[in-house]
Amino acid sequence: NSALDNLNFDNRFVRELPGDPEPDNFRRQVYAACYSRALPTPAKQPLLLAYSREVANDLDITVETCESEDFAQVFAGSRLAKGMEPYAMCYGGHQFGHWAGQLGDGRAINLGEVVNSRNQRYTLQLKGAGLTPYSRSADGLAVLRSSVREFLCSEAMHHLGVPTTRALSVILTGQQVVRDMFYDGNPQREAGAVVCRVAQSFTRFGSFQIFTARDDIDSLKKIVDYTIRTDFPELGEPSVPVYLNWFKEVCRKTAEMVVHWQRVGFVHGVMNTDNMSILGLTIDYGPYGWLENYDPDWTPNTTDAQGRRYRFGNQPKIAYWNLVQLANALYPLIMRAESLQQALLAYTETFDAGWQAMMAAKLGLTAFAPSEDDALVNQLTQLLQVAETDMTLFYRQLADVDVSAGSDSLAQFLAMLQRTNYEPLNDESIEQATRWFEIYRLRSQRDGKLQQERSAAMNAVNPKYVLRNYLAQLAIDQAEQGDFALVRELLEVLRNPYAEQPDKESFAAKRPDWAKQRAGCSMLSCSS
Ligand code: AMP
Ligand code: MG
Ligand code: MG
Repeated sequence: NSALDNLNFDNRFVRELPGDPEPDNFRRQVYAACYSRALPTPAKQPLLLAYSREVANDLDITVETCESEDFAQVFAGSRLAKGMEPYAMCYGGHQFGHWAGQLGDGRAINLGEVVNSRNQRYTLQLKGAGLTPYSRSADGLAVLRSSVREFLCSEAMHHLGVPTTRALSVILTGQQVVRDMFYDGNPQREAGAVVCRVAQSFTRFGSFQIFTARDDIDSLKKIVDYTIRTDFPELGEPSVPVYLNWFKEVCRKTAEMVVHWQRVGFVHGVMNTDNMSILGLTIDYGPYGWLENYDPDWTPNTTDAQGRRYRFGNQPKIAYWNLVQLANALYPLIMRAESLQQALLAYTETFDAGWQAMMAAKLGLTAFAPSEDDALVNQLTQLLQVAETDMTLFYRQLADVDVSAGSDSLAQFLAMLQRTNYEPLNDESIEQATRWFEIYRLRSQRDGKLQQERSAAMNAVNPKYVLRNYLAQLAIDQAEQGDFALVRELLEVLRNPYAEQPDKESFAAKRPDWAKQRAGCSMLSCSS
């Protein structure tokens, strides 16, 4: 008798939405269905690598259960607990700006929906548990490397206050997976792993687009109405005005998510419409990355290296572009282009206001004054690029520069800039820095906060600890050798990203030189 058999499953998605009548998992086009039933492939020898105690707690799963043999079995896909009804979701998407047709959960299998003792609903989803009808030419599997990256980043983002899907666990399957990561023609064998992802829902923009693309408005209406009733019940019973309000709400949530990404220096890397959550959650941690030296043109995705569509500075525009595609998909239910156009303003308005408030907060200012702060921010972003300044360290340490220390303020600032740069300052950049700081110092003084108040406010929005690309890679290297301690330690550190953790200073250090060129530390490809 296992504790996991006592979870309270209520599988609304499969109960209320049309499913694929075909029981097999051979790859094919699936029509007029939101999902296909698909069993996880049992793992040979499940071994728990790490779990998140907060997510377990959300699901009413105890720490003892997480550490049990049965937990590893269930969340590696080797045993179905009572109430689980596994299925893969059907969706389409625009990839890199082009309609790609049917995509779907090629290596994700939903186990069902748990309703916890607080009456909160969570969908559990295994990633890397084997083939589904949507696997196309791939294997349905995931490797340790990408699974640890997804596990750690989901949790890190949550603790940073960024809307995101969560991760309950990462479990090794005991099987090798063939990957050709260096494109050198030699297949690499890597340890297989399964992440259990958790979210209110995993519905994506592409979950709606697929039906409109196929002119299946009947199914479109079903999943729209279902989503409103299940995830946006406060909007009321579905109708044309409710569809519009719902779309506006999606615009707002998406804008809020992207403001957070820009705040913490997160680059998603594959903002295709199949990777955009209808709940405005960060979803699908593939070739994401964190800005080290501030560079708005940086993308971690090697697949995107040419076009740089998904570079840091382009994320706000791409989110809008993706919402336009969603608007097109919803058009048949609404039939009013102007109203949809109008609703899209909710994105622009939310983003602009949110971005301004966010930038003001990062700089320790009470409010953003466009007439002067637009220039202040523009000049700062230039300065950070010239000096190749570490974004996270810069904002964190700016809080310690006392703007009321007279002539000492500038000395403090320049010393801080020297510490947080990847390139030494030259005369020209010192001049530029001096000019910027003088404007900032006066602006901050007028803002009028006491130094202590100012630094506390800044430290609440400027994290000290983020999942630096090279830290994730170090943890992966060790895990591949069978040592999971660094993965677990990183998870612990990242649970309190805004706190000072004096014995964890090394996790807040600049990228070391060796990490600049090393594969995995900055550039990554899509599917692994
Ligand atoms: P992504 O770029 O990770 O969002 O993936 C795009 C599509 O490819 C989605 O439909 C994924 O489910 C599918 N996919 C990615 N990797 C695999 C894999 N190893 N096996 C099967 N399907 C995959
Ligand atoms: Mg995806
Ligand atoms: Mg992916």
